[in-house]
Amino acid sequence: MVEMTRMMVWIDQDLCTGDGICEEIAPDVFIARDDGLWVVKEEAAHFGATIIFDDETGDGHGPEGAKGVARVPDSQLDIVVEAAEECPGECIMIEPYAEEALTRRGV
Ligand code: SF4
Repeated sequence: MVEMTRMMVWIDQDLCTGDGICEEIAPDVFIARDDGLWVVKEEAAHFGATIIFDDETGDGHGPEGAKGVARVPDSQLDIVVEAAEECPGECIMIEPYAEEALTRRGV
């Protein structure tokens, strides 16, 4: 099953404080990376396959930052907006869904 998506999200890791509030609010969309910063992901439960935008190489991984823009499942949109509002780094960026963004991330 692939869920409908109207918005996309990415994190500016340069501004992330590493407190993990985003994952507490929306664990299907945000996940901690080994270096203590947070990244976005697309969960298999919503999109059929999991992609973590943590700048690792290989299947199931994608770029970080503005290139690593994840589709937001419509069912998760309200809590992703809440996470962005609560984010102390103000580094959760939400933007309208665009085919161009899928090209940008290269996965
Ligand atoms: S809430 Fe914001 S600052 Fe905190 S871990 Fe998530 S992205 Fe980083």
